[in-house]
Amino acid sequence: MTASQNWNMDSVFSGGSHSEALQSRIKELDTLIKETLTQISEWQPSKDHPEFNELASFLKKRETIGNGLSEAGTFARGLFSANTKDLQAAKVVNQLSTVASQMSEVETLFMKKLKDVPENEWETLVATEPFKQSAFPLQEKREKGQKLLSEKEEKIIQKLSLDGLNGFGNMYQTIVNSVNVPFEEDGKITYLSAGQAANKLTGSEDPAVRARLLKDWEIAWKEKAPLFSDTLNHLAGFRLQTYDLRDEKDFLNPPLEYNRMKEETLNTMWDTITDNKPKVVEFLNRKAALMGKDKLNWADVTAPVSVGDYEPKTYSFEEAQNFVTTHFGTFSQEMQDMAQRAFDEGWVEAEDKEGKRPGAYCSNLPESKQSRIFMTFSGSANNVSTLAHELGHAYHSHVMRDLPALNRSYAMNVAETASTFAEMLISDATVEAAASEEEKIALLDSKISRAAIMFMNIHSRFLFEKRFYEARQNGLVNEEELSTIMEEAQKEAFLDSLDTYHPTFWASKLHFYITGISFYNFPYTFGFLFSLGIYSKAKQEGQSFSDDYRNLLRDTASMTTEELAEKHLAVDLTQPDFWQSAIDEILTDIDEYLALTADRI
Ligand SMILES: [Zn+2]
Repeated sequence: MTASQNWNMDSVFSGGSHSEALQSRIKELDTLIKETLTQISEWQPSKDHPEFNELASFLKKRETIGNGLSEAGTFARGLFSANTKDLQAAKVVNQLSTVASQMSEVETLFMKKLKDVPENEWETLVATEPFKQSAFPLQEKREKGQKLLSEKEEKIIQKLSLDGLNGFGNMYQTIVNSVNVPFEEDGKITYLSAGQAANKLTGSEDPAVRARLLKDWEIAWKEKAPLFSDTLNHLAGFRLQTYDLRDEKDFLNPPLEYNRMKEETLNTMWDTITDNKPKVVEFLNRKAALMGKDKLNWADVTAPVSVGDYEPKTYSFEEAQNFVTTHFGTFSQEMQDMAQRAFDEGWVEAEDKEGKRPGAYCSNLPESKQSRIFMTFSGSANNVSTLAHELGHAYHSHVMRDLPALNRSYAMNVAETASTFAEMLISDATVEAAASEEEKIALLDSKISRAAIMFMNIHSRFLFEKRFYEARQNGLVNEEELSTIMEEAQKEAFLDSLDTYHPTFWASKLHFYITGISFYNFPYTFGFLFSLGIYSKAKQEGQSFSDDYRNLLRDTASMTTEELAEKHLAVDLTQPDFWQSAIDEILTDIDEYLALTADRI
């Protein structure tokens, strides 16, 4: 078996960031976008009825554009990730986003035109191929079209958003760039950027360092709080005004619709989590005891636990490949085969070298029907889990590769299903393979801590955002009020189990300032538990479940989330049972953790 640690990008476009093939492709796509804009503006549904050939031709072009932009985007972003000094790659990334931005006008028009199709003609349309297969996403677009204002009004909103909504999003970044956090080390004070301080805050192994830094961190954000408060208020204000213009009464509706789920499902999920929180608090308290403290602070929750020195098990990249493919194989032959292909055909960039951006991701190549995975592999068990996580994303794309583009665009709440599932398969196996009890505790700790973040931290973000939007509907919410709402939400979400909170979290957390979508929080918890529930079922049913699992993934963009669960898992997401089965997975881990650490405090 070859164990190349570098991906093959030449098979996508030859010539690196100066690729001529890429430039001519971008030119083609640009022309095609302009063509589709004309085509959709001139489209008259009633004249196209009953065959709808013109619509079929439009959808075909739309698909070519979408696939082409993804293919080129994966290539260009990939080159830049693997070498952040490749300025030409950065330039191409920018060029592509400019070209792609023209598609938003096409999409708006498309939705508005679908709305204009008379009801009886619409029924013929969605019952006829090639539209039949995409009836759900088409219906969804038609409903969105019904909510939109006139073409001209939507264009005005879009144009004003550039300096309104998006302007405030950019403003946030500018203020964050000016944040400095003092940090004392060996009697010397240095000033850290927000990003550097965040890394130290979650990564430092010394509880005293974290406690001191958390205090300075809070002060640093508080100093700029009036600027952040203005930014957040205007960003949310712009959004609420737009909802008002479109006659959208409930600010929670757009994110729920985007995630194709009911509010009832969301409420049941949070309620079931809340019922199980006392056990999670037991975990947090044990973790505190292991650190020699009564209670954890905000930053301790995800910090590595102190269990003394141990020699962790390390993996060569070749061992990691074998480990992942073998364990995938215990559940699904197809997953194993795809992972093997990914390694053999150079889908993965894993080399530990200078000049790479941090983090990991998987990006799709819909034209090549492949994926590219970016990460830095240094041999830890966590790296092996990350590799599995990203291969899980690749598997999701793999099982969808022959579907129309409309049926491939799944929402955020199910985007992490396949990745979390694959990661669980492997991380449970790495816990089993741990070289010592200390390592086993550390691996369990990082697994449960992640769940604690999903159950408590993300819950506090949701509670905050909901209360903030409620208050914002009645006027500006000043920085003191924001911090009060935030701290109360944190105390509630953590069952008041921490000794120090982070009241200015509303300023330090980028997610509250994302312009594309609001409530960039509950889909994380949803996705995590949805995947865990599926994993629990897979453990019970073994390989016989692998086909159901595959079919579920294929359908993730073809129905509502409730329908997806009903069809493939035979569960009702508005009821607590499924959620409880998912949470039970974590409770089992907590029991093991508590038993393993009982005589270490
Ligand atoms: Zn992921």
